[in-house]
Amino acid sequence: MGRTVLILGTGGTIAGVSATPDDHVGYRAGALGVEALAQALPELSGLPLSFEQLASIDSKDMDFVTWQRLATRIQQAVTDEATEAVVITHGTDTLEETAYLLHRVLDTPKPVILTAAMRPASSRSPDGPQNLLDAITLARSAGVHGVLVSLHGKVHAADRVRKVHTYRVDAFDSPDGGPLAFVENGCVRSLAPWPTPSGLGIKRLMRSPWPRIEFLTNCVDADGALVPLLQELAEREARPLGLVVAGTGNGTLSTALEAALMRAQSQGVAVLRCSRCAAGPVLGGELPSAGSLSAPQARVELLLQLL
Ligand code: ASP
Repeated sequence: MGRTVLILGTGGTIAGVSATPDDHVGYRAGALGVEALAQALPELSGLPLSFEQLASIDSKDMDFVTWQRLATRIQQAVTDEATEAVVITHGTDTLEETAYLLHRVLDTPKPVILTAAMRPASSRSPDGPQNLLDAITLARSAGVHGVLVSLHGKVHAADRVRKVHTYRVDAFDSPDGGPLAFVENGCVRSLAPWPTPSGLGIKRLMRSPWPRIEFLTNCVDADGALVPLLQELAEREARPLGLVVAGTGNGTLSTALEAALMRAQSQGVAVLRCSRCAAGPVLGGELPSAGSLSAPQARVELLLQLL
């Protein structure tokens, strides 16, 4: 028996059940255990897999405590000689945040693959079984490493992946560069080098208090009035404050919003600027830029900077 692939379940639509096979929206996410999902795949029988149910949640409710538990368990598993790789089943809604967090904190040369589904397991044509199979294929393929997101036959880097569609099964994309690989008929076709996790370490996730990181968006008539209110709130909570602002276009901000953010920054608030556009980096400008990260990923980045 070879080394084991640990399959960690966290819930999501991939484990969802609805009342009828044609209902793809009115289901209960995370209703099935991860082992039951794998049992529906005869292709997996006899493979050295182990299963753990870390959570059973809709990923819209993912929280910091579950992140602490997840990152800790994965780091433990990949440090164990007996583990070849880790596959995580997750909801699609916050997948890009969890993937980015793991990419930044984990320290491992082993593959850590996140997968998910857009249709519940009870669907007439669910996408979860193929996605799970592909994720395990990827995890067991020679030379693969890094924190990767595998869905709909595409393999994405954790720092570029974005959920780009609310309903279709092909809901994820890596804007500006495309996927790193495809999984086709049980084979991995690699297009680009595998990434290496940053290895910041999971210890920083145990610090407290966790900062309050809020989103702001530039838009017509954005006046920045929320900025001092958020400063007051964070002060009352005795938590450090970080503000991620999704600017228009190349991260541009209205004069009033920019002034409010500059003032806050001079008073010790951490500010990170990204774009509300679907793709492209934020270049230049006075306030710090999050590069090509999506707004949710920029929020994770700022969180890690403040922890
Ligand atoms: N709300 C679900 C979740 O994120 C959506 C999905 O998994 O597709 O858990």
